[in-house]
Amino acid sequence: MASAEDMWQCQTVNCGYLYDPDRGDRKGKIPKGTRFEDLPIDWKCPICGASRKMFRLLVGPGLVKEVFPWGDRPMIMSQISVRAMKEGRDV
Ligand SMILES: [Zn+2]
Repeated sequence: MASAEDMWQCQTVNCGYLYDPDRGDRKGKIPKGTRFEDLPIDWKCPICGASRKMFRLLVGPGLVKEVFPWGDRPMIMSQISVRAMKEGRDV
């Protein structure tokens, strides 16, 4: 199964089509298992016809960094738990 890191979403207003490499694109004759990066240069969104440039990674290392500059959330959560335990509070 493809991870969210491999999913690309069309950014055109009112579209939101999600390219899933596990499914490919039947309309565009893209076989299953084709990564977004390997799509033909002239591939277009099967819903609205937008070019590849209109697509953005659904989730990626860059995006995660943006949301959690410190890295990953579980680490922060455990730090909060440790602090709460030291203060004798229930988590
Ligand atoms: Zn689209």
